[in-house]
Amino acid sequence: MRRRRESLFFCALLALSLGIGPFGCSSDRSQSEIKLVVVIVVDQFRYDYVERFSDSFGAGGFKRLMSEGAFFANADYNYAPTYTAPGHASIFTGSTPSQNGIVGNLWYDRAAGAQKVIVSDDSAKVVTSYGIQSYTKTTRPASPRILIGTTFGDQMRLATGFRSKVIAVSLKDRAAVLPGGREANGAYWFDASSGSLVSSDYYFRAMPEWVDKFNAQRKPDSYFARVWEHALPASAYETTQGVTTDVKGSPLGRNFPFSITGGEEKPGEEFYKAFQYTPFASEYLADFAKAAIDAESLGADKYPDLLAISFSTPDLVGHSYGPDSDEVEDIYIRLDQVIADFLNYVDDKVGLSNTIIAVTGDHGVAPIPRLAVLNKIDAEVIDPAACIDAVNKALQARFGGEKWVENLVNDQIYLNRAAIEQAKADPAEAERLAGKALLGVRGIASVFTRTQIINGQMPPGLISKRISNGFNPNRSGDVWFITNPFCFVGEGELATTHGSPYDYDCHVPIFLLGPGIRADRYYQDCAPADIAPTICALLRVEAPSNVSGRVLTEALSKK
Ligand SMILES: [Zn+2]
Repeated sequence: MRRRRESLFFCALLALSLGIGPFGCSSDRSQSEIKLVVVIVVDQFRYDYVERFSDSFGAGGFKRLMSEGAFFANADYNYAPTYTAPGHASIFTGSTPSQNGIVGNLWYDRAAGAQKVIVSDDSAKVVTSYGIQSYTKTTRPASPRILIGTTFGDQMRLATGFRSKVIAVSLKDRAAVLPGGREANGAYWFDASSGSLVSSDYYFRAMPEWVDKFNAQRKPDSYFARVWEHALPASAYETTQGVTTDVKGSPLGRNFPFSITGGEEKPGEEFYKAFQYTPFASEYLADFAKAAIDAESLGADKYPDLLAISFSTPDLVGHSYGPDSDEVEDIYIRLDQVIADFLNYVDDKVGLSNTIIAVTGDHGVAPIPRLAVLNKIDAEVIDPAACIDAVNKALQARFGGEKWVENLVNDQIYLNRAAIEQAKADPAEAERLAGKALLGVRGIASVFTRTQIINGQMPPGLISKRISNGFNPNRSGDVWFITNPFCFVGEGELATTHGSPYDYDCHVPIFLLGPGIRADRYYQDCAPADIAPTICALLRVEAPSNVSGRVLTEALSKK
């Protein structure tokens, strides 16, 4: 007993003299230096942007992350569909949709007979700076309730008696509530009807005062009528293809320079919608993240905190102008500056030597099909009605009846189970026939049926693996079709999109910077799902419940 007390005393002395913190007193516990974890997700961040645009980046952003930290050049999403919600869920849970249940941005809820936004939650309310509301003109209530299992932020909270804080922010609801996990102190996203950040009563009934103060500054309004023009001289944009063929869905218009008014006389909903398509929205989110560090005292005590920032603008601009446009490059040039500035801020306030920074993308993007065709690459937009029609006709011919397709989402057909039962049809046969019919649609390369996936009867190969990792039996469809590369199913006003199991959608960069991480370029195969277990290993907390990723040991120092 006496000995133990002595050794505790000695340890306390040692800890004091070394200035190390909370988790114990063994001298090699480098995790005790970690006060803050910052995860920056760039929405629609292809790996090749880091290389193609590198001459245009400054020294303090991506290049700093690359030179001072670990850069993983071969990180691929190990599942489909490669969308925002599954991407964020994978990064923060260290798992795949098969386990965490986040099977798309949208999913078809069979019980409700309706397609739903995956994070939408009718039992929640929207918390705004002007009170709690059932919904706003542009925002539906959201929560992380649909997420299965825990995130690494949850594990940090659970490991510290909830003394670690978790704050998440994005323009998009899904990119805030999923990173926040179940235990977040707050997740915030942008409401275009009010031009302010909102949250959910899942976290609290009244907006924290500091958020009200931030919203009261009306920062987006200060960008009204600002002009977005190339940041650098024309030579900086040599690796883009300049002229974009189809510009779709952007409220800004077709060519630089863009005047940001949304067609309004003074800031209003249309302006706030347009604002999100500009690099200024990334500055705004970074400002909010800085305010969070100050007001929530992130990184100030011995319990490490998590700040998750998801920059949504690159995705909006990428969908409209495509990955080969000046607009996308310019968004990244300016985001690089925002990140450089933010790293300096964290260094001032918390110290980068006490902070783990992780930066990655939630998915990539395909080139605009028409531009791909001009470049002699086969590409096309597949009409979803043609897919539904093909399946309906095939099943009508075999079983009679009429409506065999209940829904189509995430390249998956949900068959009408009531009709299958009524016709006393074998579900596996119905799936097979539907799949065969889909193979007759131009641009579709292969199909996987529910029966095949659940019974593990898939051909060997990467695509099969990515599909089974993306398939959740309770939420996914009955027939999953894979398009040819560069083809996708048309969805609304988008010039291009992502979602496929192909390289351009799956391959993203990962940067890790901080104590215990060895600076280098790493070529090992890895996945964004490896970020969570790696951070948990550095923090020495339990990994998330469903974790399937690995610890990126190649980049960790041995001590
Ligand atoms: Zn997107």
